[in-house]
Amino acid sequence: MQKYTAIILASRDANEVNRLYIIYTLEQGLVKAVAKGVRKPAAKLAGHLEPGTLTEIYVARSRGMGQITGAITLENFENIKKDFEKLTEALKIFLFFLKNFSEGVGDKKVFDLLHDFLGTLNFASAECLRIIVESFWWKLFDILGNRPEVMKCVACKEKLAEKSKKFFSIEKGGIICSGCGPNFKELISISDNQIKLLRIFWGNSLEKTAKVKVSGAELAKLAKIREIYARYHFV
Ligand SMILES: [Zn+2]
Repeated sequence: MQKYTAIILASRDANEVNRLYIIYTLEQGLVKAVAKGVRKPAAKLAGHLEPGTLTEIYVARSRGMGQITGAITLENFENIKKDFEKLTEALKIFLFFLKNFSEGVGDKKVFDLLHDFLGTLNFASAECLRIIVESFWWKLFDILGNRPEVMKCVACKEKLAEKSKKFFSIEKGGIICSGCGPNFKELISISDNQIKLLRIFWGNSLEKTAKVKVSGAELAKLAKIREIYARYHFV
């Protein structure tokens, strides 16, 4: 019997009565396991295994896939589950985990960040939802070894000057100064404020970054860069 501290990412019906769960665990990263009889009405386990729940899970392994024999909810994060926008953002992150992480490889930093994110998002107001989501993603890229260079130009290595035009290079993974700009293709212009935001994300907790005041337009543009960046560097 293995005990896991897990965040439920997804589930799907395996047959009439059983359900397959994909969970992200502190101990072993992604784990797939089956809960038997969980689809029967009033099955006790199901309530502890909803996607987005932090759960203590017991898995028995003999041959093949593990079987969930017990589960206890540690944190329900119910405000996320009943808020469509919060839930949508959480599910996008869960999907990224399903695609990019391997079974059996635990990473405490990733687990703690996801746990912290769900806790912060759960009590977040609608106004700070976007910045928490943005901060989460860039922090995740950093933990995964894909932190873009935002202190100096990735081409000439010169320190970035305030109030000069700057670009983001998806391929080079960082900022390109105005002098080097003409030598590169497919650059996205990025503002001093957006660069500052990235530095704030990496230097502060999610809770602290939630309090930063930034315009919706600046944040939306940074989200666009992040989406392209994620598609280039991850699955
Ligand atoms: Zn340069």
